[in-house]
Amino acid sequence: MADSQIHVALAGNPNCGKTTLFNLITGANGYVGNWPGVTVEKKEAKLLSDKSVTITDLPGIYSLSPYSPEEQCSRDYLMSGEPDVVVQVIDATNLERNLYLALQVIETGLPVVAALNMADLVEKSGDKIDVKKLSDRLGCPVVMISALKNKSIDELFAQVKKSAATKGHVPEHKFDSAIEDVLTHIENLLPASVSAEKRRYYAVKLFERDEAACKLINLTKDHAERVEQLVAQCEKDCDDDAESIITGERYGVIAHIIDECLTKAPAKMSTSEKIDRVVTNRILGLPIFVVIMFAVYYIAVSTLGGTVTDFTNDQLFGTDGWFVLGQGRDAYDEAAGDYTQAQAEIAAFIDAADAKGIDVSAYNDAVDAEDGDAAADALKTIAAEPEAASVKGKVEEDEDAGTTAATVTASQAVKDLDVTEPDPADYGPFVPGITTAVHDALVAGGTEDGGLVDSLVCDGIVGGIGAIMGFVPQMFLLFVMLSFLEDCGYMARVAFIMDRIFRRFGLSGKSFIPMLVSSGCGVPGVMATKTIENEKDRRMTVMTTTFIPCGAKLPIIALLMGSIIGDSSTSARWISPLFYFLGVFAVIASGLMLKKTKLFAGRPTPFVMELPAYHFPAIRSWALHVWERCWAFIKKAGTVIFASTVVVWFLSNFGMFEGAFGYLPSMEGIPEEFMDYSVLAMLGNLVAWTFAPLGFSTWQATALTVSGLVAKENVVATAGSLLSVGDVGETDPSLWTAFAAMFPTMGACVAFGAFNLLCAPCFAAMGTIRNQMNSGKWTAIAIGYECAFAWVIGLIINQLYELIVLGQFGFWTIVAFVLLAGMLFQIFRPMPHFAWTDEDETNSSSVVNATA
Ligand code: GDP
Ligand code: MG
Repeated sequence: MADSQIHVALAGNPNCGKTTLFNLITGANGYVGNWPGVTVEKKEAKLLSDKSVTITDLPGIYSLSPYSPEEQCSRDYLMSGEPDVVVQVIDATNLERNLYLALQVIETGLPVVAALNMADLVEKSGDKIDVKKLSDRLGCPVVMISALKNKSIDELFAQVKKSAATKGHVPEHKFDSAIEDVLTHIENLLPASVSAEKRRYYAVKLFERDEAACKLINLTKDHAERVEQLVAQCEKDCDDDAESIITGERYGVIAHIIDECLTKAPAKMSTSEKIDRVVTNRILGLPIFVVIMFAVYYIAVSTLGGTVTDFTNDQLFGTDGWFVLGQGRDAYDEAAGDYTQAQAEIAAFIDAADAKGIDVSAYNDAVDAEDGDAAADALKTIAAEPEAASVKGKVEEDEDAGTTAATVTASQAVKDLDVTEPDPADYGPFVPGITTAVHDALVAGGTEDGGLVDSLVCDGIVGGIGAIMGFVPQMFLLFVMLSFLEDCGYMARVAFIMDRIFRRFGLSGKSFIPMLVSSGCGVPGVMATKTIENEKDRRMTVMTTTFIPCGAKLPIIALLMGSIIGDSSTSARWISPLFYFLGVFAVIASGLMLKKTKLFAGRPTPFVMELPAYHFPAIRSWALHVWERCWAFIKKAGTVIFASTVVVWFLSNFGMFEGAFGYLPSMEGIPEEFMDYSVLAMLGNLVAWTFAPLGFSTWQATALTVSGLVAKENVVATAGSLLSVGDVGETDPSLWTAFAAMFPTMGACVAFGAFNLLCAPCFAAMGTIRNQMNSGKWTAIAIGYECAFAWVIGLIINQLYELIVLGQFGFWTIVAFVLLAGMLFQIFRPMPHFAWTDEDETNSSSVVNATA
């Protein structure tokens, strides 16, 4: 049986609108994976309007040459026999560059339908394209569409189905007659097994000496030699190498086609070009960008996002709960305030009575036993004592505790007994926080209050997931704004502006967007590297992008600030940017060093990027973009982070005490600091020695690092419990003191911070790195490099501190200096011979304005 499925491949240059078209016609609910063996993304989905049509989105490329994995996969797929028809998407505002690839795809002999995209922009510019003539010259059907405006898509697919029924055709376009003669000769040498439509393709490939293609057709030795003779002779005649000859011929054909088919409107500067005059200006470009980014972060983190995040943390996932639409909140707050005041008054009265020598033990016992009735009775008994008449308790005014100043007599204390604790449910539609609700449900179901299950579920799972979910609103806003900037065309300009800076240290301007996204979360940040076409650049960006502090690392920074300078707020605000600079420094230093290693060496790919005209993004694709990123994060929170919080809970609550292994908090005679006996402590002790040269070899510090690998947001919470200061935040001074006491010197404390911020990211991000690299070896290289780099930086910081401030010198000081010298050498030495040479550097960045 023949396969009734039609396979359609979407081919085209980067930014020609393939993804927009793909999402439009498939609803974007297809399968996203990788092409076998490479990190190139493969997207596949069924046509919405006809399930018998499968669409495969090929990577955006400029040519079908075999130089990049993207080009290879595209070629392999086209020649694999699977696609029945190719939809060649062409950005009609940029015919010359787009036809270069189109001609090559047409040369494959496959049935091709050319989709001239961006019809709306062409119309707006006033240019005229003669579609009929273009179709004749290219030898394939041409349909003018607009993917963004959903125009003529049905017509395109009607044509696609017609073409799918054909077997393909011999390409129409002809090169210079001298070259055509040679190609005809080569075609005649091809084995008979090569079908008529593919003969020209292989003839051209043999001419270009394209090894990968040559391997596919087994020429006899005689014929191979004959081909080489012909090509060599032709090269001599033209005084050029074979590949350049073909490139030149293709552009010749294109120039001819454009001449015949395109009538340009008289040139006038488009709005986009006017905007770009300012926005990509050498001097103004960067400051404008900084201002925009500042606004984005201010909105996402400080104002709107911060409010929603507080709500998520305290009320939704915390223990506060909330009133639906705020109804009843005021009345409840007032009642709760009265209750707090009454309780404070009773406590003050008891203290004063105790001071007067009245026996209050009965009351205290009743309170300890949590027996409210007995406590009330005891209080009444105390109030009835004759000495009680002169007792005056004092309540201080305290805004934090919510009390006002009062003098409490015995009769007042008894009256206070009548003030009962208000139940929020009595005041309005009230929803308890998830933690409270889960806790109550568990206790009602018969689990022990504060026992193992309660602790695992409420502290471990709900608490852990809640901590992550708290980031979602901020991240959502951040991604809404970043995706808008991307989709409206601004980010392409930013990549261009940044390229001037980034290429100095071996990265592409396109590496910048992943880094921006990483400042929210490394998971979508690493995913955003997909848009970088060059594989080496992409790998390097994956390796370095998580050096940028993500949202979860901010509490660590605040904790460090508090511990180092005893202040996490106002006057010390300048410290926290230092850690961002550390991240940026790590990216730059790594770029400079890695580019000079064999793994990453290579000439810088010239920055070529069509700048799409500014436009308001299609809501659909914008929403999809935001959704993809948020969902990636939520999915990780629900799986990897869920699992890992359980693991951290287990590691810190289970352990060995007096020869028995078990759940520590319920063990007989266990001291308050039960974590000292936990598995986490054992693990910490096991690896602590590796950090001795960095100055922090206590198991606590190591255990914090381990819990940070699970999820960075664990570090502060774990520090609270490890150091027995309880469940306090990063802004609590008692945590600062305890934290600082863990380190022998301030240098060690900073080294710890540097190591934790730079070392491997959390498990979720590591998983994404694994997916993105699509190779175990490269994942190991990435994680290994990050950890090693972090360790070296930590070592240098600590040793320099010891040497300069404390005047200590030892073996590790020497090691630190050797490593520092090595790093500086690698950063500043000239490009080694196996990398690119200076002449190549003239490949400076260039940019093509698509609306020109
Ligand atoms: P890809 O790199 O080929 O996947 O291109 P995209 O689908 O990401 O599109 C690149 C840019 O072109 C996006 O900003 C799209 O919104 C825009 N775009 C795509 N199709 C059209 C179109 O028909 N008209 C206009 N005006 N813009 C389009
Ligand atoms: Mg795309």
